[in-house]
Amino acid sequence: MKQELSDKLKTDFPGLYGELGCGFECLDGWFDILYKLSGALIKAAEEHHITIGLDDENSGLYARQVKEKFGTLCYYTSYSWEETDDLIHEAESQSAHVCEKCGRTGTLVCENHWYMVRCLKCLQEIRATPQNN
Ligand SMILES: [Zn+2]
Repeated sequence: MKQELSDKLKTDFPGLYGELGCGFECLDGWFDILYKLSGALIKAAEEHHITIGLDDENSGLYARQVKEKFGTLCYYTSYSWEETDDLIHEAESQSAHVCEKCGRTGTLVCENHWYMVRCLKCLQEIRATPQNN
């Protein structure tokens, strides 16, 4: 993900992404999904009086890993309960219909043995690019 977008998520939701060692391992198209999910997770944590970020008892809510896996979004947190599970599941399901590259409506496809969610335009660009093998 572009530095600028990654910085925006880290700045707007500081505690949530303070422990995210590897950063956001997905492309820019999912920024809106992540932004919306971040806000919803923080709201849910606040309602349950759960600390956002790593706390002394190691019980706070923060993102451990955010990545693309088999084409769709995978979002792992330090702590979860039914509400956060639902929110994360919704965002992960949504990612199957949003082009990971540009954020337009996309579909999950298998291209050159890789699963990915792409819109028609981004898929055509991949197909127009010569492969090494
Ligand atoms: Zn696209």
